[in-house]
Amino acid sequence: MDLNGKIAALLRDFAAIQPSKQKMWGYKRAARTVLALDEPIESLLQADGTLKKIPNIGPASTRIILEVLTTGTSPTIEAAISGSHQKPDIDRRGGLRAHFLSRAQVLEALRDATLGGPSRDEYRGDLQMHSTYSDGSQTLRDIIEAGIALGYEYNAVTDHSYGLPIAGGVSMERLAKQHREIDRLNAEFGRRFRLLKGIEANIRADGSVDMAPGELATLDIVVASPHSGLRTKDDQTRRMVRAVTTRGVHILGHPRGRKYGSRPGVTAKWKKVFAAAAESGVAIEIDGDPSRQDIDCDLARTAIDAGCLFALDSDAHSTRELAPYTDVAIAHARLAGVPSDRIINCWPLARLLRWADSRR
Ligand SMILES: [Zn+2]
Repeated sequence: MDLNGKIAALLRDFAAIQPSKQKMWGYKRAARTVLALDEPIESLLQADGTLKKIPNIGPASTRIILEVLTTGTSPTIEAAISGSHQKPDIDRRGGLRAHFLSRAQVLEALRDATLGGPSRDEYRGDLQMHSTYSDGSQTLRDIIEAGIALGYEYNAVTDHSYGLPIAGGVSMERLAKQHREIDRLNAEFGRRFRLLKGIEANIRADGSVDMAPGELATLDIVVASPHSGLRTKDDQTRRMVRAVTTRGVHILGHPRGRKYGSRPGVTAKWKKVFAAAAESGVAIEIDGDPSRQDIDCDLARTAIDAGCLFALDSDAHSTRELAPYTDVAIAHARLAGVPSDRIINCWPLARLLRWADSRR
């Protein structure tokens, strides 16, 4: 039982029914803090029945946490919600938190020697992240230096494509400029590190990607991801099958586009989508952004059975997100038991590039 996840969910629910913005933010911040704790929260309970002080968690949230630690739930929150007209919406959001891991669970999965799947040491490079060229805050040099510090051989910078202006999608002119900068940096770092030229292309409603084949061919790694149609229950199997059978696409990024407690993402017959991806050789991403965790360990088992390749990526927008977000992706892969040989991030650079070439 993951009490960190349970308490964070209760605090989020409680935040939703607060009359004041200030209280709402307070409970939300407490929820975020509990989800990000390295240790199970019960380990912070002291012999005198009080909780060790946690930064960003105020007295009201502490009382809720103690309630859950002593009774297993929070009568305060349950009573408040059952009397609220927002109960249906809160119940709906609660259903959108399945198979999300707290940070404490992620670290436990990385430590647990009984699990199969990849270890941190086998991980050679991260294949989805954003830079200052689109909506990220990290420069290309930051990405290289962070990769070297993490012991990686390569990273791919995958800014948004021009079809997604809302996320700062890069024009082809700006992409050419980025490629010149990447060439200069790769020449400077030589054999110490390789920054790959990537893009996160957008999957349109009809399943086509928003870049021309000739444009895709200028890139080392193409991630294609859905950023629309993420709240409808309509079946989108055809859209996703078309995306994973598009020549030049390497990775299906955050396949569902779900968000923690807020949207369910794409509805599709995933067995079919994964079978098509396995046949065409497109890797299925486990996106490690804690609010995405997409696909998760549960759906990953379906992708293993379909014979898929996997990409475990951070989807980081800043350097401080790189390592912890990758941990989330690795944890899901370990819980699902994805064999390391099927994870493209565990391949040496030469093998990765050979495979990427074969998809062009
Ligand atoms: Zn995306």
